[in-house]
Amino acid sequence: MIEVKSIIDGEERKSDQYYYRECPYDNEKIVTKTHIASIEDLKSAIDIAREIFDNDRYNWVSDYKQRDRVLFKIAERIREESQTLVDLLIDEIGMPLRQAKTHVNAAADIFEYYAGFGSKIYGNVKFLPNGDLVQLVKEPVGVVGAITPWNFPLTQSARKIAPAIAVGCTIVWKPASYTSGISYYLAKIIMSSGIPKGVINVVFGPGDKIGSELVRNNKVDKISFTGETTTGKWIMQEASKDLKRISLELGGKNPFILFKDANLDQAIKGLMYGMFRNAGQACGATTRLLVEEEIAEKVENKVVEAIKRLKVGNPRVEDTDVGPLVSKSQENKVLNYIEMGLKEGYKLLVGGTKIRNNGLERGYFIEPTVFSNVDNKSKIAQEEIFGPVLVIMYFKSEDEAITIANDIIYGLTAAIWTNDYRKALRVSRRIRAGSIWINDAYTQPAEGLWGGYKQSGIGRELGLQGIEDFVEVKMIYNNINENYLHFKQVYKY
Ligand code: NDP
Repeated sequence: MIEVKSIIDGEERKSDQYYYRECPYDNEKIVTKTHIASIEDLKSAIDIAREIFDNDRYNWVSDYKQRDRVLFKIAERIREESQTLVDLLIDEIGMPLRQAKTHVNAAADIFEYYAGFGSKIYGNVKFLPNGDLVQLVKEPVGVVGAITPWNFPLTQSARKIAPAIAVGCTIVWKPASYTSGISYYLAKIIMSSGIPKGVINVVFGPGDKIGSELVRNNKVDKISFTGETTTGKWIMQEASKDLKRISLELGGKNPFILFKDANLDQAIKGLMYGMFRNAGQACGATTRLLVEEEIAEKVENKVVEAIKRLKVGNPRVEDTDVGPLVSKSQENKVLNYIEMGLKEGYKLLVGGTKIRNNGLERGYFIEPTVFSNVDNKSKIAQEEIFGPVLVIMYFKSEDEAITIANDIIYGLTAAIWTNDYRKALRVSRRIRAGSIWINDAYTQPAEGLWGGYKQSGIGRELGLQGIEDFVEVKMIYNNINENYLHFKQVYKY
């Protein structure tokens, strides 16, 4: 069992209040004991981050070479510690072994991608017609409050922490309560990279206490949040009180559009990858399969066959494809949606129940589940279930596919499968979502981009664009020509 403590100004802080985290595939096993930080702990973390930023202590804001070295080192240390990180991912959230390995590598990739950025961020300059010079410079946004979810705990944090370091921000990080162990371990890796103490502080405690105070505190310049859309809306409202900068990465209910001319066998593999990773607990998961009506029956048979081949089980076992859900409450939420689908009379093609045998009875395992011929207006088609539940809908034309795909409050991702490249591009253009995959699903390179249209969020992470959420742009006006014509146009003297 790991004992998790907040790390503030480089020092671990104990508390006399704590909680225990059970393992989701064996709820008799306790994985972490987490010391809950007090509001005073959080405030001291914010004060330190503020002081270091404002005084450019350790030359943190000005010396980009130092920051680049730190980022390279973090990436290297993540790779060195990958076995421990994989073990923690399995035990804390039940992520299957192969997926956990990929996840750890993806996090290292993000730190590596942003390493070297500090020296490559430039502003712009322009001579005006009157001869004066305008300089536009990019500066770090300041003290960043990073609030992260449990479902992909390393990459979601890396997408915030790496660019914030690259540009010279200081950070107070509030990880999800379910994944305090892995977040603590990542924090220790970051601390071992040569980063000056207090530049990043990690504070553990419940979202409605520690998270909400971080959002409200007026010494914090920016909140970078990933989590549920309802939490994101609350944050936006609170942040408006002092006009804090925000970026929000929120929910999704994403279409996988399958045209009859696609390579169906590859498409089904893509669907399994896009839908059932992390047991469907993924904001970008392609949870709505839109299939051209002519091939619906054929596709449904293939989907059922593919699901029967998926191995649901202990995430420690090498060939497991689908692990447990993160918690009892998440399991209940998903079972409620399945019940809703059954009550509404939709055809259950496969799955639908909790698994209570094969040694899985002490975990939160639900069979991969598929409902067919679902009405896009129904709750199971419109709401984010965050579990292994796929809904299938039919379309007759390209236009109808686009209408169904866009008829939802979310706009995070979409997959389009067809061998007609022109059609793929036409459809890509009309889908209102931040990431589109053509003949692919759920691939997220560090060089790419992540973020939502509509109620899936505000702002973008990853790639070049991911830097912009952590900078302010300043104009410096240089009067060079000394004739002050513009003064004379307004004032007579
Ligand atoms: P939550 O919104 O419940 O929690 C996310 C984080 O916010 C946690 O650290 C949580 O702390 C904290 N939090 C909760 N309430 C508050 C509050 N009032 N003020 C400040 N912080 C708060 O989401 P989940 O952890 O359940 O994550 C799942 C959700 O995240 C899904 O809806 C999913 O779609 C979305 N998501 C979006 C992604 C994207 O990139 N668009 C990527 C991954 C997930 P605590 O854990 O202590 O409650």
